[in-house]
Amino acid sequence: MALTRRQLLSLVGSLPLTVAGAHQAWTQTAGRVVVVGGGFGGATCAKYLRRADATLDVTLVEPHRQFVTCPFSNVVLVGLRDLASVTHGYEALRQRHGVRVVHAAATALDPTAHRVTLDNGSTLAYDRLVLAPEKNVVRSGNCKRKMKKKMEKHNK
Ligand SMILES: Cc1cc2nc3c(=O)[nH]c(=O)nc-3n(C[C@H](O)[C@H](O)[C@H](O)COP(=O)(O)OP(=O)(O)OC[C@H]3O[C@@H](n4cnc5c(N)ncnc54)[C@H](O)[C@@H]3O)c2cc1C
Repeated sequence: MALTRRQLLSLVGSLPLTVAGAHQAWTQTAGRVVVVGGGFGGATCAKYLRRADATLDVTLVEPHRQFVTCPFSNVVLVGLRDLASVTHGYEALRQRHGVRVVHAAATALDPTAHRVTLDNGSTLAYDRLVLAPEKNVVRSGNCKRKMKKKMEKHNK
């Protein structure tokens, strides 16, 4: 069925409202993201989520106050660099990118209630969850695929 010019203009005119509505629905219902693990994967994800949408409330859960990178550790071992050059804090994520950083370890997940329990006894509610604790949870390729599928289903 061909659209009349009037129908087409009316459709195009309603698009910004649809997009604005979708954005509003996202920010109202899916604005809280919890990222577990502040290594390469988790910290990068938290930073770019905030850069993509500054209205997102992004919380990074990481037990350590400093991250020592594995890359370049060999250069430190042979004395060509000092340890400080491969050690990074979380201040830039907080101050430059507005990521809330909680120094604690995640101990349990409740995917039904959308809650993460931390070892300091508190819980965090989320709309979307990112798991990036490296080998602590994900051990094999098969397990990685299963976990990925689970998380995709869970985050739908
Ligand atoms: C010696 C060595 C040299 C390497 N060199 C290179 C290189 O040159 N180039 C390269 O690309 N890769 C290199 N890698 C690999 C690279 O370090 C990893 O691929 C990368 O660190 C993986 O990132 P990730 O975010 O998955 O995990 P990680 O960077 O390990 O981060 C995981 C984070 O999760 C946190 N965490 C764990 N459990 C919990 C929990 N329960 N709750 C909250 N937080 C938790 C940990 O404290 C950690 O900070 C090297 C690795 C090693 C061991």
